[in-house]
Amino acid sequence: MGQLSPRALHVLRQTSNFVAAAGLALALGMIATAVRAQQVTTDGTIIRNVTLISSERPAPLLHADVLIRDGRITKIGTRLTVAQGIRQIDGTGQFLIPGLVDSHVHPGHSAALDDDAIAAHPELWAAYRAQVPRAYFAFGFTSIVDLDLLPTDQAWFEGTPVHPRFYSCGPGIKVAGGYMAFDVPPSSSPNFPNLIYEPQEAKSWPANLNSANYTADHAVARAADAGAVCVKAFVEPGFGMFHWPYMHTETLQNIRAAATARHLILMVHANGVDSWRSALNAHADVIAHGLWVWSGDPDNAVPPESARELIEAAARAHVHVQPTMQTVAGERAIFNPGLLDDPRLAFALPSSVITYLRSPDGVKARVTVADEYSKASPPPGFEPLFNAAIKRTQATFKIMLQDHVPLIFGSDTPGVDGFGNPPGLNGRMELQDWADAGAPLALILRAATLDNAKTLGLSRELGSIEVGKRADLLLLRENPLVNVSAYDSIDAVFSDGKYIARESLRPNN
Ligand SMILES: [Zn+2]
Repeated sequence: MGQLSPRALHVLRQTSNFVAAAGLALALGMIATAVRAQQVTTDGTIIRNVTLISSERPAPLLHADVLIRDGRITKIGTRLTVAQGIRQIDGTGQFLIPGLVDSHVHPGHSAALDDDAIAAHPELWAAYRAQVPRAYFAFGFTSIVDLDLLPTDQAWFEGTPVHPRFYSCGPGIKVAGGYMAFDVPPSSSPNFPNLIYEPQEAKSWPANLNSANYTADHAVARAADAGAVCVKAFVEPGFGMFHWPYMHTETLQNIRAAATARHLILMVHANGVDSWRSALNAHADVIAHGLWVWSGDPDNAVPPESARELIEAAARAHVHVQPTMQTVAGERAIFNPGLLDDPRLAFALPSSVITYLRSPDGVKARVTVADEYSKASPPPGFEPLFNAAIKRTQATFKIMLQDHVPLIFGSDTPGVDGFGNPPGLNGRMELQDWADAGAPLALILRAATLDNAKTLGLSRELGSIEVGKRADLLLLRENPLVNVSAYDSIDAVFSDGKYIARESLRPNN
């Protein structure tokens, strides 16, 4: 998560409820109502006569045949001869691309219902949770990376009948009393949040915890013990509005060293010039947000020289960046509920949840958050600041493109209050944001497939259509190198070679 500033106030209210919410879902019997999507085990499947688009190729392969066995791609060619009994899928006129990877998600967090709604309507929460993994599939995401893991979330997600591949950075590393760790329980469970002792913020350290157990090594070990493929550290001084205890550069450098020792990549939550500088000074592998916080007139969207220099430095050092434009743009739904009319939402949220969001209770919840945001905003008020923040994300994104900063695709779903970051669909909207801001379509595809896989150390398995890799594939009716709207034309998803018709991924199907 990494939101526009007023969000932070709301986080104060919500953070302590994550554990309770996760427990509730478990108590509901791991969402027993989830209905298995139409699946066919295809230990032998051949996709015939398709246009194969994969980022390691200089050009698409026309009239391609792709043979899948035991969940992996075993042969690629044209007019392949195969044994009888192999399932044939005619790809004529269609496009085959690798399954998308979203390397910044929080699937355990609600992207539709607030705490009160979850408490009042456990049946809506159950229906919502049942759809989350299916929604990622429906929008083409066959692998996701949870950037601030609650262990119960992984158990829930992987316990659902149909779900994308799940990776994580383990529990994110946080400073006591700071962002995402405002409320540290008196007898804090050692893993939530994954605290690190920050000597420059010693006054906010909980007296009941022995700081010697909260070194960088301990924090990284906790992530590693959770099966992490990466380590996530939060550097958030307060979105340019607040003054919270935060992680200073020396501590981040210690995390860097501990992560390197364990062969884990380091991802840093940073969205402002100070936190970006800190991430670069600590040699982060990935900056997990775009750049939209800097001092000066908050209404002014023109990036200062310092922002330009940092982007240039990121390009020089080959630090990967997740622009996460939806982290800001998704706030729009709090003020403008037009997203409820988007027909694509029917694949992201159950109709019962959409009905609730339209109901008087749902509208009231939305307006309450909108009022909180407005009250928390300094002059000239929320709306101008919000619009400036969107322009800032776009302006810095364009500089990143010009400077050839290596970009990887992450949507931060959900990173906002309200329903502006619906599961799966938010990733689709993030793809749109990139295209609208001028990113070439080939770059977008590569960032969401091969470059994500490479950056995360997963490219032996994922990210391209090559012999030996997992058969995580998307069959599209339109060409994603011609129009970004092709990502709305998914006909079928293959996960580990299993064919899933997109239509079967509708809620309650
Ligand atoms: Zn996030």
